[in-house]
Amino acid sequence: MKSINTVTGTITAEQLGTTLMHEHLLIGWAGWELDCAAPKFERKTAFKNAVDRLKELKDLGLKSFVDPCPMDIGRDVNFMAEVSQASGVPIVCATGLYKEELGNTAYFKQRSVDEIAEVYSSEITRGIGNTGIKAGIIKCATGKGQITPYEENCLRAAARAHIRTGAPITTHTEDGTMGREQLDIFASEGVDLSHVIIGHSCGSADLRYHTDMLDRGCFIGFDRFGLDFLHPDKLRLAALIGLLGVGYEKQIVLSHDSVWCWLGRGLDLPPETAKLVENWKPSHVFQDILPALRRVGVEEEKIRAMLVENPRRYFS
Ligand SMILES: [Zn+2]
Repeated sequence: MKSINTVTGTITAEQLGTTLMHEHLLIGWAGWELDCAAPKFERKTAFKNAVDRLKELKDLGLKSFVDPCPMDIGRDVNFMAEVSQASGVPIVCATGLYKEELGNTAYFKQRSVDEIAEVYSSEITRGIGNTGIKAGIIKCATGKGQITPYEENCLRAAARAHIRTGAPITTHTEDGTMGREQLDIFASEGVDLSHVIIGHSCGSADLRYHTDMLDRGCFIGFDRFGLDFLHPDKLRLAALIGLLGVGYEKQIVLSHDSVWCWLGRGLDLPPETAKLVENWKPSHVFQDILPALRRVGVEEEKIRAMLVENPRRYFS
């Protein structure tokens, strides 16, 4: 894409600056709006919290923000646009569908790859519903250890919409699995893998998994910092430091996959895991992870590559 679609208009890749590539203002599992016994969604409170957080992140150096919420788990692009306007932080939203296990699948299971691709392309070129807001990125997702036929259709649709529109692709993977297979599917559709982020790759401690993907030219997301209950930060950091040490800094992006507001009821974590999400907040990379990298001698230019240059190249 020549210019990048944000929820408040287009920007150039040069205007992106320091970017968090994977965070969520809102998430709601399909059906959340039917749960009349759940706490009511307080839009005003959620709005104020999101704006305050973005302002705090701006003070830490953030310039732009990608919220790759797929269309079927509570995506609200009007909310994103209001928050973006009030905070002054450009937000890129996504088209695309979530993994089969947690997505809203009934309708799109009955559609062909090309029909799904048409929907994705239309959200990028014509806009989402009647909002006038255009998606700037394509999201797809797979579950743990397998890619279902439905998920494969969505991956192929993402590939075709990418080729048609130029909007880059970002993915969800589970527990550090199926990233290589996702790349196989994109490659078989003719995608230039330098416009793909295999998300949540930091969920694997297997450096072979990482280098297999990196050597094919894609980006990988170390984008779940703070989610210690899924995979400890210590292992995410160890893998990151290793990969930076052998020169992969041009293909890694950083984020947290933080969720700022759950629609309906959110994660029900057992009390003993509460300590393991203490750092799951969007300032964690700036406040804790970057200092940890600096302490072991990671150069500023490598940090800049991950936060500024890689997002720019991925979108250009
Ligand atoms: Zn996510």
